[in-house]
Amino acid sequence: MSIRKTLVVVGAGLAGAKAAEGAREYGFDGRIVLVGEEARHPYERPSLSKQGLRGEEDVPHYVHEDRYYAEHDIELVTWKRAVSLDVAAHRIHLDGDAPLDYDAAVLATGATPRVLSVPGHDLEGVHRLRTVEDAVALGEAVRGAVRDGRRVAVVGAGWIGTEVAASARQLGAEVVLIDPLDVPLQRVLGPTVGTVFRDLHADHGVELRLGTGVAAVRGAGRVEAVELTDGRVEPADVVVVGIGVRPRLELAADAGLALDDGIAVDAHLRTSAPDVYAAGDVAAAEHPRLRRRVRVEHWANALNQGRTAGRNAAGAQEVYDRLPYFFSDQFDLGLEYVGLGDPTDDVVLSGDVAARKFVALWVRAGRVSAAMAVNTWDLIEGLKETIGLKADDVDVTALRT
Ligand code: FAD
Ligand code: NAP
Repeated sequence: MSIRKTLVVVGAGLAGAKAAEGAREYGFDGRIVLVGEEARHPYERPSLSKQGLRGEEDVPHYVHEDRYYAEHDIELVTWKRAVSLDVAAHRIHLDGDAPLDYDAAVLATGATPRVLSVPGHDLEGVHRLRTVEDAVALGEAVRGAVRDGRRVAVVGAGWIGTEVAASARQLGAEVVLIDPLDVPLQRVLGPTVGTVFRDLHADHGVELRLGTGVAAVRGAGRVEAVELTDGRVEPADVVVVGIGVRPRLELAADAGLALDDGIAVDAHLRTSAPDVYAAGDVAAAEHPRLRRRVRVEHWANALNQGRTAGRNAAGAQEVYDRLPYFFSDQFDLGLEYVGLGDPTDDVVLSGDVAARKFVALWVRAGRVSAAMAVNTWDLIEGLKETIGLKADDVDVTALRT
């Protein structure tokens, strides 16, 4: 009698869906159960702060068509949370359902927004943005603010903050963007390139309150204003908080898995527990090329790492060594970024920065750590090849086709 093995994937986001796909693609013919606590089948998040938020396209973008899961014999269990992982018994407990015994498991539990811990953070009118429901609610609130001539305050000038500020402004809202650092995206891009984003937002009429934090959200029942740490009070009818995320580590932590900012995995995406893998926003993976552990909170990582985790859980022995990559769109600026720079790295710019059509190289100890192409769409493959090279040997103009 043959025994059908079982792969359980926890987290039905992009990484989880790709893990299930990867296992089947590798030839795994056992049972695959994909468990997710959201009501919908797996979808992608990038549009939620961009076209989807602006109502220019339907949300969400599903990772696969509905019928994909049945066609590939993947049991998709939505609206169901996995509450504990017993690594000795190889068992996952679900909230209010029979436990699942696994031969292999993939944890793809993603991340959740940090909460702004100031008085008034939970007033009506204060939004976060992670799910499609969040995006629909925020889109309606921004349209309401436009209609009534009220202001939108965006707290945090990271990726969510800058993309939402751009989308809200494009919808016609008055927008104020608040961040404790001196330029937007400083933590990722550093001061030089962050200045480009400061000017981009200022040129499109976003009011910037930089170098100041939020002391309180004020209002009687619903939000009326944001009080800054420098004492200023910014009237606002809608507040959007985008101050980073924390990885969803509960299952892994309770099960005693090794953690290191995220779930610690090796270059094969194996956790410290036998037969348990992790991928996506939650995974802190040994990176063979970067020679350190990295946790990447971007779409391409969830897509590719999820797939590799699923294949390895099914028996493959693949090393995950893709370089971090991401994209963003804000107003008329589109970018692609590859590598992993540090905000303190030196930056070399080439092209027309004033026209916002340029390439940036981040350089650490004389070598390229990251590269970004702004409003130039044929360079990213060439730029990938520059990562790790001596900066003096890189001629960006030679990459142009
Ligand atoms: P998630 O997408 O967080 O999915 C994890 C899933 O697991 C969730 O559905 C969660 O509910 C579920 N889950 C967690 N714990 C459990 C449990 N115990 N039981 C059951 N289910 C559980 N990246 C880019 O590169 N470019 C972009 O332009 C871009 N735009 C973005 C815009 C927005 C608004 C957001 C929020 C993110 C954006 N990102 C972008 C980042 C990208 O979407 C994430 O990196 C990606 O979603 C991570 O995928 P994931 O599957 O690892 O995690
Ligand atoms: P983020 O990119 O990490 O940025 C959060 C920003 O908020 C940081 O600049 C942070 O500064 C600042 N901040 C922290 N605490 C604050 C406070 N109390 N008041 C004001 N600002 C504060 O996170 P995010 O923008 O919230 O995005 C959430 C997730 O979605 C991330 O994983 C992100 O990568 C992903 N995402 C990606 C894209 C993309 O790739 N295009 C687009 C949207 C979302 P400090 O550095 O000082 O903490």
